[in-house]
Amino acid sequence: MVKICCIGAGYVGGPTMAVIALKCPKVQVVVVDISTPRITAWNSDQLPIYEPGLDDVVKQCKGKNLFFSTDVEKHVAEADIVFVSVNTPTKTQGLGAGKAADLTYWESAARMIADVSKSDKIVVEKSTVPVKTAEAIERILTHNNKGINFQILSNPEFLAEGTAIKDLFNPDRVLIGGRETSGGQKAIAALRDVYAQWVPIDKIICTNLWSAELSKLAANAFLAQRISSVNAMSALCEATGADVTQVSQAIGKDTRIGPKFLNASVGFGGSCFQKDILNLVYICECHGLAEVANYWKQVIKINDYQKTRFVNRIVSSMFNTVSGKKVAILGFAFKKDTGDTRETPAIDVCKGLIGDKAKISIYDPQPMSPTSVKQVACVWDAYEATKGAHGICILTEWDEFKLLDYKRIFDGMEKPAFVFDGRNVVDAEKLRKIGFIVYAIGKPLDA
Ligand code: NAD
Repeated sequence: MVKICCIGAGYVGGPTMAVIALKCPKVQVVVVDISTPRITAWNSDQLPIYEPGLDDVVKQCKGKNLFFSTDVEKHVAEADIVFVSVNTPTKTQGLGAGKAADLTYWESAARMIADVSKSDKIVVEKSTVPVKTAEAIERILTHNNKGINFQILSNPEFLAEGTAIKDLFNPDRVLIGGRETSGGQKAIAALRDVYAQWVPIDKIICTNLWSAELSKLAANAFLAQRISSVNAMSALCEATGADVTQVSQAIGKDTRIGPKFLNASVGFGGSCFQKDILNLVYICECHGLAEVANYWKQVIKINDYQKTRFVNRIVSSMFNTVSGKKVAILGFAFKKDTGDTRETPAIDVCKGLIGDKAKISIYDPQPMSPTSVKQVACVWDAYEATKGAHGICILTEWDEFKLLDYKRIFDGMEKPAFVFDGRNVVDAEKLRKIGFIVYAIGKPLDA
């Protein structure tokens, strides 16, 4: 029986390993983490992350061939394949602070693998890492020269939170990068055999290590760039009377452009896009490619501009001040169908409004702890959150926001009652008929 161990039971490690366990019943999968609360939650009925379909997958294989443990060293030592799916945030201090990836967690995982291993292993980079990381990892793994054969592979994860299980069941592609040596090719074949249990072979792309590592950064940069492009266009739409939804439809019909990722919004968030672009910028700078770095920096600048523009619009619409006014925030997660609030644009919007002394009340369908924003009230009901408010900001595209009783909400609000739709989820015309003043990103403004 092939034994897999995954270091890191987070948004990637947990769902990815659950799907591997489900699809490969003959493989034993153990997910390990240094966080006891996380592992306790995985071992309970209350999983640590919300992801549609995840409960069901975990239920089917937990205790059979899927296990969660804090005994990191034991399970790493026993494994044939070790995935490393630890966090790789942006460095906050020292060389490259604010841009470079912080590889502290990765390095300590690699040192631990080197120390506890007594048999040959395939070590898989599942975390998103800077291109050339595998070279450094190889050095760490082989430093004490115990005669163990470590093969390192890059197998970046392309799942999107909110659709992780769907993406893992039916990925656009699986990418495996390895050394061109016979050992490297054997390792690629072993990992390909795991995925081939459910992924069509033509969707499994095998490349060299550096292409695989760089492809993950490139994919996130391209996706974020699309969002910044359409958001830049939304500002021009508002200035000219064009409608960004109509523009997106018109350009998306061009098969060279395609319709996906063309929704204008208050900006992208989440733990990946910004950090991966910053990482890319840093790598470009390290290679003396200042112009390329500047190109990608612009994607983040537009994202920041979009959030500032949204806050400014709220304040200027509400008679140039929100001081003492209640503003209800509907949606705090960085996108729908996730409870993840890491780097959500809602944080910046709340901070901007609090800067002008607004009173903030937040409702999100998923439990959350907006620890980075103080002075806010979290309410577990949309009607309660909006009661007595002067304005509503919709910051996550949860489907339930389309179905709220906006007449009831309007009746409970101060007048004039404003709606600022940062995701274009509500029917602005319907709301205007009720009496709301509506601002929607990239749309013609209220008369
Ligand atoms: P996460 O913070 O949810 O999970 C990482 C886990 O690793 C944490 O639970 C942490 O306790 C654990 N950990 C850290 N060091 C450890 C160690 N030495 N031993 C054992 N456990 C350790 O992070 P995530 O969102 O799952 O992301 C993981 C990686 O995957 C990152 O590099 C990220 O960029 C990448 N990624 C994330 C997504 C996403 O949508 N979240 C998608 C694709 C790729």
